[in-house]
Amino acid sequence: MTEKINIRGVQFDSVSLDGAVDILIANLKNGTQAALYTPNSEIVQSCIDSPELYEIINSGDLIIPDGIGVVKAGRILGTPFEYGKVAGIEVGEELIRRVAGTDYKVYFLGGKPGIAETAAKTLCEKYGDISFVGCADGYFNKNGEENDRVIEAINLSGADILFVCLGAPTQEKWIYDNRSRLTSVKLMLALGGSLDGYAGVVKRAPKIFISLGLEWFYRLLCDPKRIGRMMKLPKFYFGTWKYKFSRNK
Ligand code: UDP
Repeated sequence: MTEKINIRGVQFDSVSLDGAVDILIANLKNGTQAALYTPNSEIVQSCIDSPELYEIINSGDLIIPDGIGVVKAGRILGTPFEYGKVAGIEVGEELIRRVAGTDYKVYFLGGKPGIAETAAKTLCEKYGDISFVGCADGYFNKNGEENDRVIEAINLSGADILFVCLGAPTQEKWIYDNRSRLTSVKLMLALGGSLDGYAGVVKRAPKIFISLGLEWFYRLLCDPKRIGRMMKLPKFYFGTWKYKFSRNK
């Protein structure tokens, strides 16, 4: 059991990168179905703005802080995260490294056409023998027949591990709606743009940006269209201070 840290209503787990992967591997071994969610402050703010999202985000079995804003909020609220930010993209890659050479079957769902395949190929080149049993892009109707076909393909593949990289909160909603229909899947990982990262089409920020807590700024520089989404970040930061003072009154 990990320590839970409540950040503005989202129940995070305080866990290190290796600790998170240990938990996922343990779930794989005992066959319990588990979902990993990796919310950043944008998603926590989305929950605050649309409270019906809380149930979906808090339904994750392992919820790690994938953003410096969430880590800062932990400090502001007096419940710091011992291990700081834990990047979902790194958890996913470490899991792949650890299942390489085993019989666990992996399926990549998400990204533009071709991205999942390139990501799988790149990881095979890096870590050797990984049992990939399927890849599909993430541009399908998330309801109805098209969605049924996606689920059928995953079930037919017998996948144990499913990366669901549809962007947040679409991916968490999709897992919430469909997890009971995924018959063979033990692990569902909601990992946003990670397949783009593994495929090499989106580069992670240089280490200096990461160590200064400015990965979000680098992403904004590379993709200025994110500005609308990023307006949630100051709203979350100042809102957290306001929340702290009103709570302490
Ligand atoms: N995406 C997808 N299906 C959709 C919408 C988005 O597969 O219907 C993919 C998109 O191609 C990208 C990822 O979801 O690979 C979202 O990446 P982003 O970096 O925006 O993730 P987030 O910041 O939400 O974790």
